[in-house]
Amino acid sequence: MSGEANPFESLQEQVDDAAAYLDADAGVIERLKNPERVLETNLTFERDDGSLETVRAYRSQFNGDRGPYKGGIRYHPGVTRDEVKALSGWMVYKCAVVDVPYGGGKGGIVIDPTDYSESELERLTRSFAKELRPMIGEDIDIPAPDVNTGQREMNWIKDTYETLENTTAPGVITGKALDSGGSEGRVEATGRSTALAARETFDWLDDSIEGKTVAVQGYGNAGSVAAALIEDLGGRVVAVSDSSGGVHDPDGIDARDAKAHKQTTGTVSGYGSTEPLTNEELLTLDVDLLVPAALENAIDADLAPDVRADVIVEAANGPLTPDADAVLTDRGVRVVPDIFANAGGVTVSYFEWVQNRQRFHWTETRVNEELERVITEAFDGIVDAHESYDTPNLRTAAYVVAIERVVDAYEQAGNWP
Ligand code: GLU
Repeated sequence: MSGEANPFESLQEQVDDAAAYLDADAGVIERLKNPERVLETNLTFERDDGSLETVRAYRSQFNGDRGPYKGGIRYHPGVTRDEVKALSGWMVYKCAVVDVPYGGGKGGIVIDPTDYSESELERLTRSFAKELRPMIGEDIDIPAPDVNTGQREMNWIKDTYETLENTTAPGVITGKALDSGGSEGRVEATGRSTALAARETFDWLDDSIEGKTVAVQGYGNAGSVAAALIEDLGGRVVAVSDSSGGVHDPDGIDARDAKAHKQTTGTVSGYGSTEPLTNEELLTLDVDLLVPAALENAIDADLAPDVRADVIVEAANGPLTPDADAVLTDRGVRVVPDIFANAGGVTVSYFEWVQNRQRFHWTETRVNEELERVITEAFDGIVDAHESYDTPNLRTAAYVVAIERVVDAYEQAGNWP
């Protein structure tokens, strides 16, 4: 993270920017800028040597006006209360912009998971699941994977919940492994929506993603899948990076091969015949498309003037500070916002939950077709709002669409004294 912006303040600014285009009650907008509740808990678990360790964890339930709270759980040393609050708010607007019937939530544990063994992580995860149990449920709050968590952690949480509740409730969590009730296509879904968002954006600009040069910052699940699928659509990935460094090859990097290299060595660094490059060099590379797929605040107002990409598609949550956004908007750089571009993850989580509730299994083809429909329809809705409200950029348009939906749900429900 290069910038100092507080993500929670960024979220509030984004809501205010969009609310200015809407005739909504100021009191309702205030409600939409703050979480309903935040759990802060200290989890004590046993290390392999028998000693005890206590770590901090959070779960923010931001808004439930459109359905159960929904959103991932991340394991990262940089997790803070405000970060989790922001991420939970972004989930509200993400679910609304793609019109899946959920509110927003997010959780995190303040650890570097690479410091712990698998059995330590299991004990810690089950301890968090025990704390979460009274506040989650298939119709209440449905966690999912996020940074540094995946199927393994989701399976542990599902098992802990089901054991303590003496029931089967696979829909209490999404992003599970297939044999534990997961969905086809869920692992790829965030990267898939990112690639679809890029395709739709170039089409909208009367151009095509074919032959476009691409740089991807962050090569975890979202970034690596987005790179591979953009490559399938005809884009040329020329630079990728992870927290250990970046690599550049103007002739193109084989996205899947680079991922295999990372899986074996732990990093993309040293892949093939590439040249090393720094994080800042990657973000300011002269490419057609930049995909930030790591953490918040990757591009701040200091860096934004040097960004040379024409289009930025946000696979990460909150990778641009609001000040960077303003600079890029002025410079005519098209920014495709996180709450839309990475919404494939939660959309296929929704499909997983629907399948769990119906005890039914969809084919991968069906999942991907439904996802493509959701993403292309959402993009059309954002472009319509951008044109009809004359918003300065696509982010504000996406928030206009999303806030309208949440406000309508709240107002139609009436007020409970
Ligand atoms: N963590 C993902 C996100 O930020 C997925 C959330 C979910 O599937 O609920 O969108």
